[in-house]
Amino acid sequence: MYTASCLCGGIQLKINTEIPHVFVCHCQQCQKAQGSAFVAIAPIETKNVEIVKGQELCSEYYATTNKKRVFCKSCGSPLFSARLDLPDLIRLRVGIINEPLKAEIASHAFTDYKAAWFEILDDHVKFKEAICE
Ligand SMILES: [Zn+2]
Ligand SMILES: [Zn+2]
Repeated sequence: MYTASCLCGGIQLKINTEIPHVFVCHCQQCQKAQGSAFVAIAPIETKNVEIVKGQELCSEYYATTNKKRVFCKSCGSPLFSARLDLPDLIRLRVGIINEPLKAEIASHAFTDYKAAWFEILDDHVKFKEAICE
């Protein structure tokens, strides 16, 4: 249904499912991992994600012991995160999707930690804390 790639194009993914909802996380780990105010992710069943090119470029970083953040070791693009105790699910960074994404924001998490310069202007559900994406 969608294709995705990192900035250098070395890693190409195929997403074989619809993506109705995007979840936004404002926690500090996500801010640092993206170099921005928040991360926008979509949970996708692992079986619906195919790495069609560049598996060897995929690098992993564990900011917490239970969750890996996978990124391109050539260009640094964040690709997805995955919790070790939830191996059937990845959390795709939706900015790497190539096609226009027809999705709605489902919620904002960790709004207590949001960037001071960023104002949340929509009316979607807000969680002061939550499970980090
Ligand atoms: Zn890359
Ligand atoms: Zn987070």
